[in-house]
Amino acid sequence: MAPVTLPTDRRPLVISGPSGVGKGTLFNLLRERHPDTFTLSVSHTTRSPREGEQHGEHYYFVSRDEFEELIRQDGFVEHAQFGGNCYGTSKGTIAEQTGKGKVVVLDIEMEGVKQIKNSGMEARYVFVAPPSEEELERRLRGRGTEKEESVLKRLNQAKLELEYSRTPGVHDLIIVNDNLDKAYKQLEDFVYKPVDA
Ligand code: ADP
Ligand code: 5GP
Repeated sequence: MAPVTLPTDRRPLVISGPSGVGKGTLFNLLRERHPDTFTLSVSHTTRSPREGEQHGEHYYFVSRDEFEELIRQDGFVEHAQFGGNCYGTSKGTIAEQTGKGKVVVLDIEMEGVKQIKNSGMEARYVFVAPPSEEELERRLRGRGTEKEESVLKRLNQAKLELEYSRTPGVHDLIIVNDNLDKAYKQLEDFVYKPVDA
């Protein structure tokens, strides 16, 4: 078995980008190729599970009441609405995942990114952009997970995500996910770059 090589920079990695751009695909590759190094911050959400999604692995699927109760208890590092559902990163999850000694990866939308930035939590920020809006729509539809209404909401939100990504200094790296192998290599190189390189 290949030895585990941990990146010298262990700060959590915040990956954002429009829905359907390939964030999950890139994270899965990272975890597959470095199984003992990266761990996903499993978010809470009020959306329904997609086929194959497991509670506690992909998300904690909760009711709106449960989500609101967690907000009241100040249990989230950040939370936001997206496409009519609530999503949030709980403080408990971050503590649990950080305790594993791995690099924690957050896959979150832009309001969450802003909140993490304001929270004072140390992190690195990667934005994944599509080669074009047409290709983004093809991928989102091709994934086959969303009803038409959800596709339209996500495409609309994508414009805002892309606009925000153009704010100077917000992200440490912007990857255009055209060719998957190339995009993955850019992500891996960034993650393993020595701290002050
Ligand atoms: P996200 O997590 O950003 O919502 P996904 O990882 O689910 O996006 O990817 C959306 C769809 O696009 C999936 O069907 C995935 O297989 C496909 N995909 C991801 N990256 C590429 C790529 N570079 N070229 C073509 N299709 C891709
Ligand atoms: P999906 O429904 O496709 O799994 O996710 C929709 C959007 O919600 C994606 O942009 C994803 O990054 C974002 N998201 C997932 N979990 C969280 C979270 O905990 N907080 C925030 N702010 N966004 C999240």
